[in-house]
Amino acid sequence: MFATQQAGWLQGDVALITGGGSGIGQAVAERYLAEGASVAVFGRDADKLKAVVEASSAPERMLALPGDVRSSEDLHAAVAQVAARFGKLDILVPNAGIWDYNRSITRLDGQQLTDTFNELFSINVLGYLLTVQAAWQELVKTRGSVVMTLSNASFHTAGGGPVYTASKFAGRGLVNQLAYELAPKVRVNGVAVGAMNTDLRGPASIGLNERTISDSFARSEITGNNPLIPLHDASVEPQDFTGSYVLLASRKNAGNITGAIVPVDGGIAVRGFGDRAAGGDQL
Ligand code: NAD
Repeated sequence: MFATQQAGWLQGDVALITGGGSGIGQAVAERYLAEGASVAVFGRDADKLKAVVEASSAPERMLALPGDVRSSEDLHAAVAQVAARFGKLDILVPNAGIWDYNRSITRLDGQQLTDTFNELFSINVLGYLLTVQAAWQELVKTRGSVVMTLSNASFHTAGGGPVYTASKFAGRGLVNQLAYELAPKVRVNGVAVGAMNTDLRGPASIGLNERTISDSFARSEITGNNPLIPLHDASVEPQDFTGSYVLLASRKNAGNITGAIVPVDGGIAVRGFGDRAAGGDQL
């Protein structure tokens, strides 16, 4: 007989999420609260962070930490504030990122490519490294874990242009290498999310910082009903992508998992090259 379990999977844990002011970061923050954790959200837009805390189901278990993931100083200060307020850190979610709006190499001159690369890699790759560098000692103390947001573009083409795709492939490298370096004290895993209706922006250096992926959803350039994706009628709302973040962070349920990446993308890897219209859609 199983005892009835009331407590959440992350009861009493403390999490720090970069890019927690919107999108999947905000959704994971809310889900972690529901699982019993306290959550600090770090991001470069202080107003968005404040609004997230105010709108949350448990503002008393939240902390808003404005800062930029390109700043090691900001990240170290954030980790210190988390430890001061909550006494420890169990879960780190490097997540803050930007996209390149599928900008092909054929549509960028050399200068634009350089600018896009420098801005995007400094956030999506260096930002993840700096985040882990600032927090690993706290995670060692708690035998905690890192759960990185990766992407369908960490495995497949056409989830971005070459710069974004390379940055998300680099994220896979970080999961592998950091899982190796931080074992056995700290587990490091990733969630490779697919297309979600969020506030995802582009590089300011090529004028794409005012564009948001939610506009692309609104104009149906991206839809939740792409027939190339096996589970094409699954939700594209970020809250429906949070389960794997809970599983991987849970010591009880994933204590022997490290270096793993869960694809949460509707099954892109099994889309094949046959005529799916003759298959599952008729079920
Ligand atoms: P989002 O824009 O809603 O969230 C990203 C957050 O990061 C924002 O709140 C933003 O202010 C913050 N941020 C950006 N640059 C920052 C910086 N330099 N310092 C601090 N904070 C910064 O978009 P999202 O879709 O939730 O993106 C989160 C992650 O999900 C990203 O890593 C993205 O690559 C990944 N992802 C998104 C999709 C999608 O379709 N939306 C698909 C695959 C992967």
